[in-house]
Amino acid sequence: MDYNPEKGWHDPRIVPYGPLCLEPSTMVFHYGQAIFEGLKAYKSDDGRIFLFRPDMNMKRINISNDRMSIPPIDEEFAVEATKALVSLDRDWIPSEPGTSLYIRPFIISTDPFLGVRPSYTYKFIIILSPSGAYYPTGINPVKIMVENEYVRAVRGGTGFAKTPGNYAASLKAQEIAYEKGYVQVLWLDGVERKYVEEVGSMNVFFKIGDEIVTPMLDGSILPGITRDSCIHLLKNWGYKVTERKLAIQELFDAHSEGKLDEAFGTGTAAVISPIGELNWNDRIITINDGKIGPVSQRLYDTITGIQNGTAEDEFGWITVVE
Ligand SMILES: *Cc1c(COP(=O)(O)O)cnc(C)c1O
Repeated sequence: MDYNPEKGWHDPRIVPYGPLCLEPSTMVFHYGQAIFEGLKAYKSDDGRIFLFRPDMNMKRINISNDRMSIPPIDEEFAVEATKALVSLDRDWIPSEPGTSLYIRPFIISTDPFLGVRPSYTYKFIIILSPSGAYYPTGINPVKIMVENEYVRAVRGGTGFAKTPGNYAASLKAQEIAYEKGYVQVLWLDGVERKYVEEVGSMNVFFKIGDEIVTPMLDGSILPGITRDSCIHLLKNWGYKVTERKLAIQELFDAHSEGKLDEAFGTGTAAVISPIGELNWNDRIITINDGKIGPVSQRLYDTITGIQNGTAEDEFGWITVVE
């Protein structure tokens, strides 16, 4: 689908996957005015096809668009367009346990123009790819390095938007952590480097005694749909869930006092990614003996169950693709 100021968003079409032809001066290459999304289509044992809360992804597109000065899309139309595309490509959805069809909507600015201003023209594209099981050999908690030098986002910046520059800026820290044997970094806030924000490109939760804590959304954190789903489920199960500031020191103190029971990341790709070890300035702590905890496991089982149609969809999170 294309955008220009005269016609607005127009000409939605489904065409075979193939290269784009863009001039080297195309604005997105130079100024990064773009956004993206990520969701999945799941096939149930009886062959039905489900999307998980796609309305939330399309709503978030408009939140990202607004921050990046991209004109808003029609959210309901975008859900219908996604359903039409997935339905057409249904034979590409794998059916083995844990597999899915990854859906990547994105918008790029397309004026052939050098000069910093919002583009007048855009393309909104949705591509698909079969996706293997994230945990083919079972869920293994990961080792995470607390990042002290680089920051992902600051309040007033673009941290809450799903925009490519955030990811480009995160690669360096990720690369350094990886060289040291850690799979991802735990990001601290960009001002004081004191408060926990996210883990890699996932939101993060901690079970501290009988409280489950996740950093509050204050502009530098991406409002994850998996995060929202976890908060919903946990509250429904009677847990005390708190969205607040969480200092890294508090976390390490809680561990010393034997109160840090579980830590996990949340996101569409992994759903739940338990954290088994944290390294902060060479202070290394092991969480739950490096094993997945009961709350993480229950969230994983429930959300993946809803997604593949084996658990009851109590909250109306499933959209069926006909
Ligand atoms: C996409 C993303 C998440 C997770 O969002 P979901 O909607 O749960 O997939 C978290 N943090 C960042 C930085 C992200 O880009």
